Amino acid sequence: MMGIAADLLYPEICPLCEEILLHDEKRVCKRCSYKISYVSEPCCLKCGKEIDDEETEYCKDCEEGRRTFIKGFPAMNYENTIRESVAKFKYSNKRTFSDFYAYEIYKRHGEEIKALDVDALIPVPVHKTKLRQRGYNQAELLADSLSAYVDAPVDSNILVRNTKTLPQKELNDIERELNLKNAFNSNEECVQYNKVMLVDDIYTTGATIEACTCVLHRLGIKDVYYTSICIGKRD
Ligand SMILES: [Zn+2]
Ligand SMILES: [Zn+2]
Repeated sequence: MMGIAADLLYPEICPLCEEILLHDEKRVCKRCSYKISYVSEPCCLKCGKEIDDEETEYCKDCEEGRRTFIKGFPAMNYENTIRESVAKFKYSNKRTFSDFYAYEIYKRHGEEIKALDVDALIPVPVHKTKLRQRGYNQAELLADSLSAYVDAPVDSNILVRNTKTLPQKELNDIERELNLKNAFNSNEECVQYNKVMLVDDIYTTGATIEACTCVLHRLGIKDVYYTSICIGKRD
């Protein structure tokens, strides 16, 4: 009875269309489940982004930019419905969406991620002013949800965002990198981890993940991977 009452009070909603889920629907409604654009082969061997040309191994961004993380595990292409969904997750307090995203990452990459047996999942931090405004870090919610699926602990303390950076959207690639280079830091001098996985909501140019990876390397962590809900395709 408790369960039924709770369901009536807080019905589960579809994280893509926000309709109430039917009793035989789990995490996402049937209509939306067909609309999801999953990352599909061929993919960049570094960041995991879809590439058009089967002959190449890396996407343009990875070929041109510095990449010191080992490999990325994005689940979906950043388009259509997922774009709006993630915006709500980030800015409109739709915290419960994190389970759906984590499950999608798990569905696509769970076996590989589990086999890596990382020491910790590390959410990309947000600046503390933003944290105060929003009340939560969406990447941390995602890491917490993913933790249960891939059986890895979350460490939200070792990375900090120390400068208020300009919105990345308004900058070109070089400016983005400079903007982010000093944006991340750590509270620690060194840590006991050898292998970790960064967790973020959206991967675009890779500058954020790269900047975080550099800090983690400085702490003595050798192997850094990342995962994200979605990855931006560039034209
Ligand atoms: Zn839906
Ligand atoms: Zn790439």
